[in-house]
Amino acid sequence: MKKDMKKKIIVGNWKMNPIALKEAMKIFSSVRRTASKLSSTHVVICPPLLYVQKFASSRAVSPISIGAQNVFFEEQGHFTGEISSSMLKNIGVNHVIVGHSERREMGETDEIISKKVQAVLEMGIHPILCVGEKERDVHGLYLDVLKSQIKNSLAKTTKKLIGQVIMAYEPVWAIGAKEPMDPAIIQEMAIFVRKVISDMFGHENAMKTLVLYGGATNFRNASDIINLGKVDGLLVGRESVNVPGFVELLKAVDAV
Ligand code: PEP
Repeated sequence: MKKDMKKKIIVGNWKMNPIALKEAMKIFSSVRRTASKLSSTHVVICPPLLYVQKFASSRAVSPISIGAQNVFFEEQGHFTGEISSSMLKNIGVNHVIVGHSERREMGETDEIISKKVQAVLEMGIHPILCVGEKERDVHGLYLDVLKSQIKNSLAKTTKKLIGQVIMAYEPVWAIGAKEPMDPAIIQEMAIFVRKVISDMFGHENAMKTLVLYGGATNFRNASDIINLGKVDGLLVGRESVNVPGFVELLKAVDAV
């Protein structure tokens, strides 16, 4: 890998899987073994919170970053069931998925997401900010949806901190689907995401911002999406807990 080349990022979102720690440790060890052999790819694993602490405190964690799947925006206090960005930072977490469509579906608004993004950034953690349209229409209204999600979710962010944000463009209709979005369209959408960021934070900052794609990725389509879609990496759901598939996906991406 050339010195000035950015590493590709693969984020594994385990969602609410697996149901036992033993299985989680098995998956994690296999991924770690593969991750330690990659040269141009950085792996971020976002397991359920119960396992986050276990993995984040493990001394052998080095080739993998540990991320959380959610966070609350307040630092501490009477917020039953919530976890703050300071708590995550204190156990060694350096990435947090914010605004996943499954959480938006549970009622999370752009206003809440913007507070989470800010809380995470202030703690020196990278928010992996998920945005994406639910459906595409012939009039291109989905572009307005995306633009407003980005603008509102980053409303509290400053030029100084925007470089820490990792954007994850995930068309909701492709999540859990059989096929991903066509790589040529992914490229257009990644340009659009950067254009909105450029309007808000300037061209230079937009060019530095990492843009990932998520939705129905696997070892067969991953390298095409990176190559032709011109994204900086992938946010992987289902395939991230399927060890053989995920290991192949990591190798395929590393070979791009
Ligand atoms: C996701 O939930 O963010 C996702 C991309 O899921 P999948 O890869 O399973 O489509």
